[in-house]
Amino acid sequence: MEKGSKYADVIIDVSIDKLDRPFSYRIPERLSGIICAGSRVRIPFGAGNTEKKGYVTALRDTVDLEEDKIKDILGIVEGSVTAQDVSFEIASYIRETYGGTLSQALKVVIPAKAKAKPIELKTLVRKMEREQILALADEAFRRKQTAKEKVLRALAENERIPNSWITGKLGVSSQTVASVVKSGAAYLETSSEYRKPAIADIRESEPVSLNDGQNRIVSSICSDLDAGLRGTYLIHGVTGSGKTEVYLRLAQKTLLMGKQVIFLIPEIALTYQTLARFYGKFGDRVSVLNSSMTPGERFDQCERAKNGDIDIIIGPRSALFTPFPNTGLVIMDEEHEASYKSESTPKYHAREVAKKICEISGASLVMGSATPSLESYTAALSGEIKLFELNERAGGGELAQTEIIDLRKELSLGNRSMFSRRLKALMDEKISKGEQIMLFLNRRGFSGQISCRECGKVMMCPHCEVPMSLHSGSRLICHYCGEVTEKPDTCPSCGSKYLAAIKAGTEQVEDRIRKMYPDVKTLRMDKDTTSEKGAYDRILSSFSNGEAQILIGTQMIVKGHDFPNVTLVGILVADLSLGVPDYRASERTFQLIAQAAGRAGRGVKPGNAVIQTYQPDSYAIVCAAQQDYGKFYEEEMAYRESAGYPPATHLLALQLFGQDEKKTSLLASDLRDVIKSYGAKKVLGPAPANIAKVKDYYRYVIYIKSPEVSELTGIRTVSEEYLENADMNGMFVQFDLDPVNQI
Ligand code: ADP
Ligand code: ZN
Ligand code: ZN
Repeated sequence: MEKGSKYADVIIDVSIDKLDRPFSYRIPERLSGIICAGSRVRIPFGAGNTEKKGYVTALRDTVDLEEDKIKDILGIVEGSVTAQDVSFEIASYIRETYGGTLSQALKVVIPAKAKAKPIELKTLVRKMEREQILALADEAFRRKQTAKEKVLRALAENERIPNSWITGKLGVSSQTVASVVKSGAAYLETSSEYRKPAIADIRESEPVSLNDGQNRIVSSICSDLDAGLRGTYLIHGVTGSGKTEVYLRLAQKTLLMGKQVIFLIPEIALTYQTLARFYGKFGDRVSVLNSSMTPGERFDQCERAKNGDIDIIIGPRSALFTPFPNTGLVIMDEEHEASYKSESTPKYHAREVAKKICEISGASLVMGSATPSLESYTAALSGEIKLFELNERAGGGELAQTEIIDLRKELSLGNRSMFSRRLKALMDEKISKGEQIMLFLNRRGFSGQISCRECGKVMMCPHCEVPMSLHSGSRLICHYCGEVTEKPDTCPSCGSKYLAAIKAGTEQVEDRIRKMYPDVKTLRMDKDTTSEKGAYDRILSSFSNGEAQILIGTQMIVKGHDFPNVTLVGILVADLSLGVPDYRASERTFQLIAQAAGRAGRGVKPGNAVIQTYQPDSYAIVCAAQQDYGKFYEEEMAYRESAGYPPATHLLALQLFGQDEKKTSLLASDLRDVIKSYGAKKVLGPAPANIAKVKDYYRYVIYIKSPEVSELTGIRTVSEEYLENADMNGMFVQFDLDPVNQI
């Protein structure tokens, strides 16, 4: 970064690919030496000199432009955060691999966008001898200055008093504090503090000695670290096999080497117990990042990381961009989770970006899962990454005894309830023993949707092609756009009065349970009950404390939690997620069921898992019930190979959105022709997306398959070039490389 350079390359904030390149600007005298690569600046842009923002990517002493064609930088954006050199490298990689513009990629990579003022802590500090202060207090008493007297008497007893205590507990105004200061009795000391995220329940973790399997992993990775070898590792370990314990040891090792650790977790719901264990072991050296934090809280965690105040950050995929001075280890727990893939442009996958970041910073990557993604397992089998297996539960507990219940048989025997006879019997038993139960409703698809029992019409959102869901008896809500309507009394198409909910949602399950077991306390965990800040933690800790005997929920309850008293897990309709038109439907179903079944019997008591399904022969369900990952992998990989889906090949989804259905479909056809003439061999579509309309935008998808990412990158580039000159007119495009959800 040469100080005093005269010119700067600036990437301007745009979402238009045409402008996605650096433009040259002059650095005015007053900013010389202040602006550096990474500075966020204001610049005039275009013929009208509209003010825009952008990032300086490089400084230069000369440019290839006539002096009078170069515009001046207007200034540095107030309160902005300077991007680090490495941010550009990562952003370029993301842009290159996943599309979008460099400025969009930079926004992803720079973890805190705005500076925040530190919190100020004020303390009243005594300046006089105790006797002098007592004399002042007596004087205040004579003058009937009660508030001032209170402060002085408190000062006589304490040398330092937090101002918040005086204005809070003592109920004294800041004017009174000022008058005490004026009398010379004390002064106000100001110090600043970073915001620290609160953590609900910090447990000292009890030291365990590693078992053989764990030891093998820890010593193998540690000896690589000692030898200065950077590696990528996959720990395939059944739930409860002690992976977290391994992560803790590896983190400790990394800290001893003077380096820092990024620990990625897929969802906030997982943080509760994992966080407690990391805090228990590393105390204040740990912090978290999560989506419910304020910008100030986020900024402070990044500052603490930069300054070396913390060594470990725990968070979702965005935590990957924590600006540690020397990251030595990235851990990715539950590496198969779909939430590691970004759903907005650039649609990057944290796993791939983590590999890149580790490469740049010389760090190792450790991934773990009970049900690894097909991508990682394939890479492990090919030797590209190192594979470790942990096949037994570390705490000694047995895997749950699993049974598959055929719901079709239940129905034919006249049982129309959502609980099979077997599940009901086990619930009765566990309740009477005082043990805990988790009921899991695999609520993919559309629960709570309303249909006409006579003509079959489903109540759809007028703006999106998805069914609306019934809430609290009378309102219909669209979960895509938020549209709310009253439930009609009669069918809009045939006039019938018989409108009813098709599938049970978690709310209905809770209702049923309350009727069946009026004395049993229940908790429910789903999107609706966890919208408030801190709700996850509250529900989980109250279940963990035994305040309720039954926890009912969606996929959020099945992952990662360790409740020793849970001895029964009921999966109400295991195949709900199988019917989704997505090449990952089986994989997701397998993962959910295997994870859910893994929740039972984590303590010393034996556990049961009951899997209710209409498709008892599906390999995803059978393999999950047997906890047989290897068999599932074989079956699923054979399907991916024959049907041509990742990881057998790479897949690029090009999604076109537009309000005019006809124009959108025409442009999509044009694009297909462009892609074909580029030489792409496997092009599917265009076809309307699974959900063909969202928020009044029609969606068309083209899928392109190729074994080489570089070919797909080329196809993306020619498509972008074609669209630059096309009449887009309210339409826009998104690219998704190796999508995890087929839209
Ligand atoms: P995972 O992350 O694979 O689900 P955990 O690390 O959470 O597994 O371990 C599951 C349980 O077993 C935890 O309660 C943990 O304290 C315990 N545990 C882990 N390793 C050992 C060990 N070596 N000896 C005894 N208990 C262990
Ligand atoms: Zn009808
Ligand atoms: Zn809608």
